[in-house]
Amino acid sequence: MGTKGKHNDDTLRELKGVKQPQTIQKIKLNRGKSPSANVFVTHILQGDISYLSRAITLVESTNELHQKKAAKIIQACLPYANNSIRIGITGVPGVGKSTFIEALGKYLTKKDKKIAVLAIDPSSSVNKGSILGDKTRMGDLVKDKNAFIRPSPSGDSLGGVAKKTRETIILCEAAGFDTIFIETVGVGQSETAVHSMVDFFLLLKLAGAGDELQGIKRGIIEMADAIVINKADGTNIKQAALAKADFSRALHLYPLKKSSWQPKVTTCSAIDNKGIDAVWQLIEEYMALTKKSGYFEGQRNEQNTFWVLETINEQLKNRFYHHPLIKKELAAVLKKVQQQQLTPFEAAKKVLAAYYKKGAV
Ligand code: GDP
Repeated sequence: MGTKGKHNDDTLRELKGVKQPQTIQKIKLNRGKSPSANVFVTHILQGDISYLSRAITLVESTNELHQKKAAKIIQACLPYANNSIRIGITGVPGVGKSTFIEALGKYLTKKDKKIAVLAIDPSSSVNKGSILGDKTRMGDLVKDKNAFIRPSPSGDSLGGVAKKTRETIILCEAAGFDTIFIETVGVGQSETAVHSMVDFFLLLKLAGAGDELQGIKRGIIEMADAIVINKADGTNIKQAALAKADFSRALHLYPLKKSSWQPKVTTCSAIDNKGIDAVWQLIEEYMALTKKSGYFEGQRNEQNTFWVLETINEQLKNRFYHHPLIKKELAAVLKKVQQQQLTPFEAAKKVLAAYYKKGAV
């Protein structure tokens, strides 16, 4: 072996070289290790935002270990949750959702409320960019120590995003947030999901543009507990007042809600901070009415039942349609249905029979 080889040996020996004192190794290990679920829970219950954020990251993770830990944390936080009002806010892009939430949010933190803003934006997973997660939004509220803003979790299914949002609500409530805003873009199916996780559903609109132009579906108007016409400022004031009258008339034609709350219409200018207090007053009125009648609690129970059944449905369906036997059987019967050899009902019966027979459930 020449000098070159010897030189290499020396280098290797040096790398192996100095043994680290045990204490340093321990510190390094601890830094890499995530705190236990109990440590998370203790900090979250103390209102520690950094632990809350990290727990939400666990909720959003697809890693199995993270999910297990998240489930443990949520379970332990559950008894401390529920003590809030959950408000859904929807409206097309540009209507002023973030400006409105910022104005209402600041109004509330001044009243010593603790607000959390979460977003559901299923379009972000398709467009590979979150409209709602934009960091420049709600710049002032972000700095407020009584506000917590979390952009939309990404996910490939609305069901998945909804589950994460529901779990995040629990964590936020356990951390002491008493007013939870769930924001969504009012054009997709996400509103139905949001509607089944909030106590109050608010639709933001603009005056002058028809519903079709604003992309608002009739179903969304039916869900609304309040319609707030934003940008009622400058030359828009008159038009906003007209729109308010029109909507109030139109809403009276809808059947009375189960909550016996008559949906209200109001105008505001989020940018000028006008009419924001009236919106909050309206929400308080709703709370007082539905808490007194028992509807508030009843609806939360109903929503819990809905999510239990929804989760079971989704998992059963997934398991069923991904089963290799079902895939094969389904393809075979569909062919026969197309060739008029089997009715759709007989076909379904056959597939289900094959599933039960194999004990595939
Ligand atoms: P989002 O997409 O629904 O969240 O809407 P933004 O809050 O980002 O607002 C869209 C645009 O409308 C921005 O340029 C805002 O400054 C503007 N805007 C929001 N609220 C008002 C308002 O009350 N009056 C006026 N004139 N403009 C507003």
